[in-house]
Amino acid sequence: MKIFTLLFSTVVSLFLCSYPTLAAGRYSAARCPETVSVLQLLYADANKDAKAYLTYANQAQQEGHEAVAQLFAALARSQEVLAENSRLLMAAFGQEAGDVSSGDVVLHGTKNDLDLTTNVALAGVEKRYSLFLAMVRPEGNAEAIAAVQQEWKVKGDHLDWAKAARGSLGILGNKLANQFWVCAGCGAIVSNSPRGACAICSGRPTDFTAVTGGWKVIWASESNPQLSKTEKAYVRRYCRTLFAGNSQNMPSTPAMGAFDSAAYQKWGLGPRRAFCVEEMIYVASVGDMVASWDRYRQINLDNLTEPEKQYLQKMHQAFGRGPIDLSSKRGTGALSPTLEKILGEVEILSGSKTLLDIDLIYIKRATAE
Ligand SMILES: [Zn+2]
Repeated sequence: MKIFTLLFSTVVSLFLCSYPTLAAGRYSAARCPETVSVLQLLYADANKDAKAYLTYANQAQQEGHEAVAQLFAALARSQEVLAENSRLLMAAFGQEAGDVSSGDVVLHGTKNDLDLTTNVALAGVEKRYSLFLAMVRPEGNAEAIAAVQQEWKVKGDHLDWAKAARGSLGILGNKLANQFWVCAGCGAIVSNSPRGACAICSGRPTDFTAVTGGWKVIWASESNPQLSKTEKAYVRRYCRTLFAGNSQNMPSTPAMGAFDSAAYQKWGLGPRRAFCVEEMIYVASVGDMVASWDRYRQINLDNLTEPEKQYLQKMHQAFGRGPIDLSSKRGTGALSPTLEKILGEVEILSGSKTLLDIDLIYIKRATAE
């Protein structure tokens, strides 16, 4: 038994010692050029498709196809998961996800949008992903290979869903579910409240989030010409968190004058009409959302107080010179609930898990309040 334990610990420490060198080799962009370009393509595709699906969702909604609109919203959410997964993998290779701006999405009515999705956009999935796999495999990065295989399965599911949706608009009128859940790990879409593990990535049932009317808020901000790209990305991150929980417990009655506020004029959903629950929740919180954003954007690192400068120094003495990563401490009870809350806020503001000086100052000011 003793020998076994000794052997085991030797193996473990050997593994731990050699891991960083191994990892550096496996995640080298210079050694895996094809893998990196495949990831870039996947990332660009996923962003383009997410935008198209959101546009189709809005179109289907306007035509009164509620269930199809929900499915398109689920497809858009799934594509966001795929984009995020590619972005994270690229980051492991030290590559930043480039700015992917795609052109406007042309609409042809929901039936034609679905035909386009099944016959054009998703029709080439088999060919495209087998090609991707052939490019990635020889370079031997197991995580990238698994990612391409997984995404291939998810896209295969997308095709089945799109066909089901098209069928629901045909003469036979097959019934389409009107509630969908998307796996945060892989982007799989299911139409029954998830009870078991994800069929594609084996994620827990709690990794699935229900697709609600939250997409309407994201769509409204995407098509709001007053918002910059950075601001739109902030709204997306903010809404993702806002609508992750049970929306029934959230305040959905906007304060008096909310619709006339400067925040609503710029970041809002347009003239008052019959809004869904999620839209009302957004209206009720848009003031707070914008106030945080303004406080964050107004931080001027050249104009800090003495205590703030000392705070930065202290933090860098404790955690090193570069960006600070507290993510391993989060949710472990090591941080106070207030700090946990502010770190969550900062992550939404910055879009990053690591903390730059601007983030640290935001935390300092928020905890001083
Ligand atoms: Zn999954």
